[in-house]
Amino acid sequence: MKVPFLDLKIQYESIKEEIAQALQEVLDKTAFAGGPFVAQFEKEFAAFCQCEYAVGVSSGTAALWLALLGLEIDPGDEVITAANTFIATAEAISYCGARPVFVDVDDQTFNMDPALLEAAITKKTKAIIPVHLYGQAADMDPIMEIARAHKLLVIEDASQAHGAEYKGQIVGSIGDAGCYSFYPGKNLGAYGEAGAIVTNNGELAEKIRSLRDHGQLKKYYHSRIGWNSRMDGFQGAILSVKLKYLPKWNEGRRKNAQIYNMVLADIDRLVLPLEAEYAKHVYHIYAVRTNNRDQIIKSLAQKDIYCGIHYPVPLHLQEAYSFMGLGKGSFPVTEKCADEIISLPMFAELSREQIEYVGEELGNLIAEK
Ligand SMILES: *Cc1c(COP(=O)(O)O)cnc(C)c1O
Repeated sequence: MKVPFLDLKIQYESIKEEIAQALQEVLDKTAFAGGPFVAQFEKEFAAFCQCEYAVGVSSGTAALWLALLGLEIDPGDEVITAANTFIATAEAISYCGARPVFVDVDDQTFNMDPALLEAAITKKTKAIIPVHLYGQAADMDPIMEIARAHKLLVIEDASQAHGAEYKGQIVGSIGDAGCYSFYPGKNLGAYGEAGAIVTNNGELAEKIRSLRDHGQLKKYYHSRIGWNSRMDGFQGAILSVKLKYLPKWNEGRRKNAQIYNMVLADIDRLVLPLEAEYAKHVYHIYAVRTNNRDQIIKSLAQKDIYCGIHYPVPLHLQEAYSFMGLGKGSFPVTEKCADEIISLPMFAELSREQIEYVGEELGNLIAEK
């Protein structure tokens, strides 16, 4: 039995006609760059995120960068984030000329450990970017409390957590701004590149709207130096179609996670993901931990089961950030996770049989050791 890591085709097949119709409407209106389909999606996505405003942009990376620019993160500032995120979180900080400051994570949730925040704050700290990794919210109450006490901004990187909740509140709506990626493999994925910023701050939304479009709100009248980070019209139309199904697809992922939890429960030396008591996890990634990880991934591939690693090298050990001089041992939990994590196949349409097959083969492999 083949178990791919992710299958975008099954989901596409289930909404094929609606997508074709949505694309045709964009063609008929020739609304290709920004425009009414993006505006419509922004309205729907803001409502979904329980926020007043959403601004559609060209990628999740652009969302993070523009949110930071909009909040006036300047050269010389420091922005605290988790060491175990996708590099885009740190790149956005670096692209503002600011300095990323990493903190280690909690070994149960893989998210920023709020207990380590105070020690990372300096006079130069301007903001914190908690990342809701794998589809689970970071522990936002203590993060917000520390941020407010030190007058720091909070930008949530919700790129892996569309529809995830923290104490009943949709992620991205808790801090000063929330950033989303609609990269095709995300829980809400475009059919190309796209992203969005959500916020309740109207002034910030207007500023980001202008920044994404060459600093203009009126054509050819540029009030500031911006960039071209507009969302493409096709992506807006596709995302509007797909957003309606997101709750159902997230439920599918949650159900699959429960089946995994059951079939994997009795395997020794395998650590399963924990759904924190404050969280509604949407399982963008179902990550388990075990030693001998690389061999297990290879052996599973021989059984036609395909896994991923998110992420094999923490940011402070990446060549790109070697100038920071943070060697091995700087963030022990992050480093241990990077050595032990396996992302098992996870998507809404995965069948019970496929999950049971993964459980059986994984159990055999670990028992052999
Ligand atoms: C995917 C992702 C991004 C970047 O999004 P793109 O749309 O690929 O630019 C940023 N942060 C995290 C945590 C992500 O998973």
